[in-house]
Amino acid sequence: MLQEKRIVVKWGGACMRNLSSVKKACEITLSDQRRSIVVVSAPGKDDEYDKMTNVLIHLHRDDHPEKSRSEMLNEIEARFAQLATGTKFNAKREVEKLGRDLADGSSFDFIVSRGEYLMAKIMSEHLGFTFVDASTFVRFDAEGRLNLQETLERAALLCKLPNAIIPGFYGQAFDGSVKLMTRGGTDLTKTLVAAGVKAEKCENWKDVTGVKMADPRIVKNPRTIKVLSTKEMRELSYMGFEVLHEEAVLPLRGKNIPIEVRNMWLPEEKGTLVVDDAYLPEHRNGAVIGIAGKKDFSIIRLEKRLMNQELGFLHRATGVFATHAVNIEHVPGGIDTVSFLVRSENLKGKFPALLKDLEQTCEPDEVCIGHNIALISVVGSGMTNTPGILARASGALAWCGINIRIVDQGSSELSIIIGIDNDDYEAAIRALYAEFTDSWMKRLFKKAWWFVKKSLRPARKRRPFSFHLYKTNWPPHSSGRPV
Ligand code: ASP
Repeated sequence: MLQEKRIVVKWGGACMRNLSSVKKACEITLSDQRRSIVVVSAPGKDDEYDKMTNVLIHLHRDDHPEKSRSEMLNEIEARFAQLATGTKFNAKREVEKLGRDLADGSSFDFIVSRGEYLMAKIMSEHLGFTFVDASTFVRFDAEGRLNLQETLERAALLCKLPNAIIPGFYGQAFDGSVKLMTRGGTDLTKTLVAAGVKAEKCENWKDVTGVKMADPRIVKNPRTIKVLSTKEMRELSYMGFEVLHEEAVLPLRGKNIPIEVRNMWLPEEKGTLVVDDAYLPEHRNGAVIGIAGKKDFSIIRLEKRLMNQELGFLHRATGVFATHAVNIEHVPGGIDTVSFLVRSENLKGKFPALLKDLEQTCEPDEVCIGHNIALISVVGSGMTNTPGILARASGALAWCGINIRIVDQGSSELSIIIGIDNDDYEAAIRALYAEFTDSWMKRLFKKAWWFVKKSLRPARKRRPFSFHLYKTNWPPHSSGRPV
């Protein structure tokens, strides 16, 4: 009988990395009949082997720093043979074919996609599920973009099968060849399938429990986020949280098909539920659900008297950044100033030309640049219409003696972005996490403790943050320097 309620399961590379994790994945899949469609990644990195996708990339380019092509092929064969232990999968034959395809000049995309393809073949043997090649339904258009409509229509046909195992990360290009998605694309394959078959939910299995509220390398044992909306996820991913592939939620837009991020080694734990914004439960604990951040931003500040009256100033300035391919991340502003926050690495080698162009195009009175800025995003759609979140965040930082350089909150009230010195980054994350998770008693105790510490010990010496003045044009073009 065909399954009505289906769960689309994705096994990530970390879950496919060795025989014991593969066996565990099969055990979990088979423990619930609804888990009838499985999407797999290529084997991930483990103690013995590198990530399979990376090995295949080296194989095609023949650019491995230590291994020749034949050594790489031997390693691939040994790994797949190990993962297929106890099945009829013939690793030798499959990898010999891969070698022949390579010699025959197969495309980069085809060779790299074989990591997922062969892993799905192996899982099909272990699970007894029908192998369905992703090329049969994931379609790209002539411009190389995903053809969502056609893909969903084709994916819907999977409902006719009692079960299916599908390789992630690739589909079929307009000319019939294999085309890869961007890295981590198996997440997208999973949601395409789920939307096509109108699944009850997706399960995204990893080797960690859900999505944490803060970076575990900075905060000890941070809480797991229980429910996360796709917009909140985007805010956290922007700051470097690895949740899902950026495009993965697109096929599920407007649909009530949640994605559950779960830990294969602790399957009894609930993990994190990623839901479409429209289906976010009204009552969640706390307005703030995550605190993420990144270091190494630079800020370029333009000052021009009566800027607010000059039509198109911002348009001209942003145009200059676009011409030099410097991506602007945020634009905090004042009345006669506007600042452009960019990633410092993005400016490398481009600043002198950018500066010259800004001078010519915008004729600013002053241009300054400051480096070593870290941005922290306090995220949560529950902040909307909740007074006091910014006050609490800035208060928590003030208690730790952390100076705020920039604050940026969009009118959607989904996140507050706070700019501080790189050196304060870790302390700020810890302070904000404590502010939004500790009980008021604990917070009071921490503040008292910090106060005692501050009274006993002189404040640590701070490196003063300085803006480097590149150009000044006082007296300015129009009305002279204000006195
Ligand atoms: N194996 C591919 C990668 O390493 C795709 C994936 O895992 O989703 O990016």
